[in-house]
Amino acid sequence: MARYGSIEGGGTKFVCAVGSAPNDLRDVVTFPTTTPDETLDEVISFLSQHAPLDAIGVAMFGPLDLNRSSTTYGSVRATPKSGWSGADVVAPLQAAFDVPVGFDTDVNGAALGEGRWGAGRGLGTFLYITVGTGIGGGGVVDGNPMHGLVHPEIGHLRIPRHPEDPFPGRCPFHGDCLEGLAAGPALAERWGRPVEDLGSDTRRAVEFEAYALGHAMANLVLTVSPERMILGGGVMSVPGLLNATRRQMVESLGGYVDAPALRDGVADFLVAPELGDHSGIAGGLVLAERAL
Ligand code: ZN
Repeated sequence: MARYGSIEGGGTKFVCAVGSAPNDLRDVVTFPTTTPDETLDEVISFLSQHAPLDAIGVAMFGPLDLNRSSTTYGSVRATPKSGWSGADVVAPLQAAFDVPVGFDTDVNGAALGEGRWGAGRGLGTFLYITVGTGIGGGGVVDGNPMHGLVHPEIGHLRIPRHPEDPFPGRCPFHGDCLEGLAAGPALAERWGRPVEDLGSDTRRAVEFEAYALGHAMANLVLTVSPERMILGGGVMSVPGLLNATRRQMVESLGGYVDAPALRDGVADFLVAPELGDHSGIAGGLVLAERAL
C-alpha cells in the first residue's frame, strides 16, 4: 500500500499525517503555525520518521503560486499572515525527500478529499466552501481542482448586504465582501459576542448570515454550475444556519436554473462535509497521489 505524507497547512495550525486513506493513517500530529522555517522544520522532522514516502501532498492556506511555469511556484503569495509572504513550501519538502510533491489550496484539497471519500463522491463538478475565521472556497471541475488565472477566491465574492444591516463589513480590501460580512470574526464584531454564543441575537444573526451566504451560493450555482456544494467550517454549526442558507439560495436563484437537484429543498445539493475536520488531510493524500 502506498505511503503518502499529507500536510494541511493552516494559518493557526499545521496538521500532518502519513498513510494512504483517512481510515489508514499511521500517525497524525498537529502543531502551531509559527515562522515558515520553524514550521516546515517540524513538518520535515515528522515526515522523516516515516520515510521512505511515495509522495507528499500539501493543502495550504493561500494565496498560493500554483503556476508551474512560475519561478516562485510552490510558494505562498502576499498574505496578511506575518512572515509567510513569499515562503517557499514545496522546494524544502522536495529537497528533504526527493519525491513528488502535490500542492494546492486548502480548500481545493478539501474538495478533493470530499470527492474521494466524502460528500463529493462520484461527482465530476462540485464546490467546497468553508466559513470560519475566514471564508474560502475551492472545487473540482470535470475531475480536476479549479485553477486558472490564480485560484478561486470565493471568500471575497461581492454580494448584496442585507438591507436592514448597517454593519460595513471588515475585509481590509473590500469592506462588505462575503468574508467581510460573514466570516466568524465579522459575526463576532457585528453582534458583540462570539459565534458560539449569539444568544438572543441568534435569529437575526442567522437571517443576515444566510442572506450573505445564500446570495454567494446562488452566484456560484450560476457561474460554476456545480452538481453539489459542500458548505463547512465552524460558523456553519450555528443552529438553523445551513437550512436558512439553503432557503436564501433558492430564493436568490428565483427559479431560473432548472435542475432536479434544485427542487425540493436542496437538502442533497447544499450539504455539510462528510469528513468533518478530516477533509483537508484527506485532500493532502489525494494531492500526493495525483503528484505521482
Ligand atoms: Zn474581501
